[in-house]
Amino acid sequence: MTTLSPSAPPSPDQLRFVKQRLVTAIRLFGAQGFGHGLAGYFSTTDPQRRDHYWVNPLGVDFTQVRVDDLLLIDPEGRVVEGRGTVNPSVDALHGELHRARPDLTAFAHTHSRLGKAWSTLGRPLDPITQDACLLFERHEVYPRFGGPVTDRQEGKEIAAALGNGSAVILQSHGFLTGGRSIAEAAWLHVAMERAADVQLLAEAVGTPHRIPADVARQTGAMLGKLEYAERQFDNLCQHLGVR
Ligand SMILES: [Zn+2]
Repeated sequence: MTTLSPSAPPSPDQLRFVKQRLVTAIRLFGAQGFGHGLAGYFSTTDPQRRDHYWVNPLGVDFTQVRVDDLLLIDPEGRVVEGRGTVNPSVDALHGELHRARPDLTAFAHTHSRLGKAWSTLGRPLDPITQDACLLFERHEVYPRFGGPVTDRQEGKEIAAALGNGSAVILQSHGFLTGGRSIAEAAWLHVAMERAADVQLLAEAVGTPHRIPADVARQTGAMLGKLEYAERQFDNLCQHLGVR
């Protein structure tokens, strides 16, 4: 494979690029059917004010989000730019994630269909295909469900479950992914949804063979390059006509 370059924003337009990229990712989730009612958020660190983050507002369908709809949230969880409503879950969950993992600039959480189905089982996705190796040793299960996440303490516990990884399966709830870029958080979410689809299908008819740990680890390292996430995200958006 030839060397790929992540899409780099020109510095004068960095904020505009980041906000447009976030909107594209949210619309991609809409096109993938990841939306469910009012549930689901995608946030990204503000490129200048690194302790602030942008997020989609409550009540706007993933497919309809525009740049002007995005909300800027400060470290106290207050909306400091934008006119929409922010759900308390955003600060309790995404605020704690951004504070715990400043190396990751984007976090996505949805109530996607297969994410919810898999989350009921309370176990990680297994390395049963080459593609699923992307997630090997990069995600954990947060095993408690006590209703919607509305307090920062639970957000801290979910951030602890994330650890140094890239994703969490929230028990009886859905998937959560983080990325070094918006594209990576989005691509990991898509990859988890597809991995859940394949594992549920395979386990419906038999016992899938598990790829040995050393091979899964090596394969995951190859698949997990940031530049690949950027290209795969762009290709999927192009394929689906999402901008
Ligand atoms: Zn949720």
